Amino acid sequence: MIDESVKQIAFSGSSHPLWRPSIGHKIGWIFLLVLLVAVANIVVVKQMLNDLNDVAATLNVSGKLRMLSQKIAFETANLSHRKKAKNEAVDVGIRDFEAALTALLKGGSVFGYDIHGLGPQHQGRLQTVRFGWERYRDYIEAVLAEPAGAPMVQQFGSIEEAAAITLADTENLISFIVADAQRTQRHGLTQIYFLLLLDILVLAAAFVAIRRKIVHPLHELSGFCHQLSAGNYDVRVGFRSSDEIGQLAVAFNHSAQRIGGLLGHLKQERQSLARAEAMFRQLAENSGVGVYIVKDDKFHFSNAKMADMFGYERKEMTASVSIFDIVAEEERQAVRENIRRRLDGELQEVHYERRARRKDGTLFDVEVFGSTMQVDGRAVTIGVMLDITQRKINEREGQLAALAYQHTSEAIMIADAVGTILNINPAFTEITGYQEHEAVGRNIRILRSGLQDRTFYQAMWQAINTEGKWQGEIWNRRKNGELYAERLTINTSYHEDGTVYRRVALFSDVTEKKQAESLIWKQANFDFLTGLPNRLMFHERLKQEIKKSECAGLPLALMFLDLDNFKEINDTLGHEVGDQLLQQAAQRLRSCVRGSDMVARLGGDEFTLILGELADVGVVERIARKILQTLAEPYLLADEALYVSVSVGITFYPDDAIEPEELIKNADQAMYAAKDRGRNRFNYFMRSMQEAAQGRRRLARDLRTALTEGQFWLSYQPIVNLRTGVIDKAEALIRWQHPSRGLVSPAEFVPIAEETGLINAIGDWVFLEAARQAVEWRKTHGPGFQVSVNTSAVQFRRDGIRSAEWLTWLEELGLPGDGIAIEITEGLLMDAGTRVSDTLLAFRDAGIAVSIDDFGTGYSSLSYLKKFHIDYLKIDQSFVRSLGPDSSDLALCEAMIVMAHKLGIRVIAEGVETADQRDLLAAAGCDYAQGYWFSAAVAAEDFPLSC
Ligand code: C2E
Ligand code: MG
Ligand code: MG
Repeated sequence: MIDESVKQIAFSGSSHPLWRPSIGHKIGWIFLLVLLVAVANIVVVKQMLNDLNDVAATLNVSGKLRMLSQKIAFETANLSHRKKAKNEAVDVGIRDFEAALTALLKGGSVFGYDIHGLGPQHQGRLQTVRFGWERYRDYIEAVLAEPAGAPMVQQFGSIEEAAAITLADTENLISFIVADAQRTQRHGLTQIYFLLLLDILVLAAAFVAIRRKIVHPLHELSGFCHQLSAGNYDVRVGFRSSDEIGQLAVAFNHSAQRIGGLLGHLKQERQSLARAEAMFRQLAENSGVGVYIVKDDKFHFSNAKMADMFGYERKEMTASVSIFDIVAEEERQAVRENIRRRLDGELQEVHYERRARRKDGTLFDVEVFGSTMQVDGRAVTIGVMLDITQRKINEREGQLAALAYQHTSEAIMIADAVGTILNINPAFTEITGYQEHEAVGRNIRILRSGLQDRTFYQAMWQAINTEGKWQGEIWNRRKNGELYAERLTINTSYHEDGTVYRRVALFSDVTEKKQAESLIWKQANFDFLTGLPNRLMFHERLKQEIKKSECAGLPLALMFLDLDNFKEINDTLGHEVGDQLLQQAAQRLRSCVRGSDMVARLGGDEFTLILGELADVGVVERIARKILQTLAEPYLLADEALYVSVSVGITFYPDDAIEPEELIKNADQAMYAAKDRGRNRFNYFMRSMQEAAQGRRRLARDLRTALTEGQFWLSYQPIVNLRTGVIDKAEALIRWQHPSRGLVSPAEFVPIAEETGLINAIGDWVFLEAARQAVEWRKTHGPGFQVSVNTSAVQFRRDGIRSAEWLTWLEELGLPGDGIAIEITEGLLMDAGTRVSDTLLAFRDAGIAVSIDDFGTGYSSLSYLKKFHIDYLKIDQSFVRSLGPDSSDLALCEAMIVMAHKLGIRVIAEGVETADQRDLLAAAGCDYAQGYWFSAAVAAEDFPLSC
């Protein structure tokens, strides 16, 4: 920039004409002018003096002429008086007179004067003088020519007269000459004045010129120099001149410009430097990376981030931390080597990654960029340090991602915005059959199967274009044409301007899974035996049908069907026959309704029927009758004609209920009511059923607090040994003293306790209470006394009986296992899983007896009795109730007793109310009996010692 300006100045200088008048020239011109004026002065003065001298000489000569005229006259007179003439003086006078007159007339040298002849203005008077003189001379000469002593008075008179005339003429001439001299003198003075004026003008001009051309520029230069010395380099000399001062001004201007430029540049550089330093500080202070300066292994500077990164205070960092302190032990040698190479000048720039060490000793990864420079003859490193822990993790994750990309079983495909495949992974090839070179560059449409319709793809792309992603299952086609299902996830990566960069598709082959799912779905939603929708599907459909009915504003009927006495057929003729019966019943049910109506099997012999959008509710009854009729037809199974009836409960949406669960409950209640009313009939749901259900709900609520509030107690019914008549056992029967309802029967609340799960806690309490009582009675009624405890099948399910805890309680009470008998039902054995058998085994191992309660009402399977090592079999009171000497029940009882004894199981008869019953049973070989004949169940304190 400076050089440029200098060049410009040099260039502008070179544009001047080649010849430039210098200040010497100018002064020379002024001097010459003054000299000329001086010469002119001399010439003019000299001329004037000459003129004056000439006039003076002329005057002198004229004066001499006058004086000579008189002298001649005098001499002449003298001559005549002495009579002896001596005429040399007169002759000299005459000659002088005439010489003077000639000189005056024609000019020339006379009496030592060089005079010019008088000018023409005096010629007339001079001629007058000449004429007068010539006459005068003639008189003189005449006188002189007279002999000596002759009278000459007359001549003398003429001479005198002529002398006077000549005198007068000369006087006149002189006066004119004097006037002329005065004029000449005046003229000379005028000339001198003029010259003086000219001198003044010339001097003034010289002064002005010197002032303008020299003094003023010098003054301006001096002011300029002052400004420069004051540091104002913007000032410029304004005048233009080609002389030395002008050049000096240009040089000064250039210098000022250059110095100004230099200073400006210097200032700029200083400012840049200050800015750079400020920027460095700013950068360093606000930097997200560590910035440091290291001098002699010590930190000369560290920004806050750097200190923070290493867990030091900033001051501490520069005061006492060495670079060896911030690297891991194993890196120190490398650092040392680096320093050495830096000092040796081998290293200028450094870039490396290190394991760094924080103040607290924890290690992390850093990346270092450093540069070495010399400051005051010492090597200084300035650098930045980045915590790359996250980057390292990212790199590792990136490597893992790449590894996963290559080895994942999930296919990955990367395509551009228009669907051109850019990259695929090996799993893609494995699933689709397309090799990389076959897929890359082609459109993703190569996989299309054509199975999905246009609307599917429209919805899919709508989602991709708006949200950038889509997930779902899709059928595609492999290279070999085979169809396959894939679970596909599409994601989008965008450019910064929001346009699509890449689409990433991840998919896995779910064909097998889908097939399995479809099977599972079928299994989950359909009943395997009848092919009818199952409970799950039924619930779904019910919800849908309710919605449909709601929309259509038409009622919906829900029927709950339960085959009457199916259990008996199942138990007596076996499951296979039972299954066939169910299948046929299902078919018949289907035939009774429209295709749009739903028939479902909930399980066992329970079916439901949804009759949706009923324009005519009368159709429901017609269908119900048809069902009763159709199902009542004989079933030809196992070469037998079997008869089964059905009980149907009917409820309506929205009249009876609007919630699906409530509707189901209503239909169930209505069905039970139909059963209660004698089966083989249909029954509409009524409010009273609901009220009963509400009563059960209230009971369930109260049941929750019954245990903690001590509302339960145990009654005990004696069990009598029929051979000895001794009471050696008792059955513990729970009682619930309800605060408002009074005593509630277990038949009422146990099912509720089972439904709510409260039976587990209640069962625990019963067991512990009964065991305590057994301990007591073993003292009073003999050491072999046994208390039997009823259990529910629910207790044997998950989290039910904690047999280990029960055994611990017995141990704590000091009651041997045989002090307790557990009563279970036949049903439990039928459905027994490992949990049940394990629990029973645990009881048996502990010596606890197991009784089958209510035997004969269920499956009455002998094989189970054998399998589970049962101790007692309790004949249900329904067999005992109508026991007579020749009754079928007696035969059944005898059969059960014999069979049980064969299996080593002892028999207890329940519900013995009469002595006959007791006797018949005793005669049949029954081991024990209980019933009102002996004693009803009583409180422990009322328990009899003997019956
Ligand atoms: P269960 O185990 O069959 O008990 C016998 C039932 O018959 C008792 O009714 C008893 O009072 C009654 N009974 C006894 N002798 C006669 C008689 O000569 N004639 C008639 N008609 N009935 C007689 P309860 O106490 O009402 O118990 C009903 C059912 O409740 C029991 O039948 C049992 O299954 C269940 N239960 C009672 N206590 C418990 C318990 O602590 N836990 C469990 N899970 N169930 C219990
Ligand atoms: Mg019992
Ligand atoms: Mg019983």
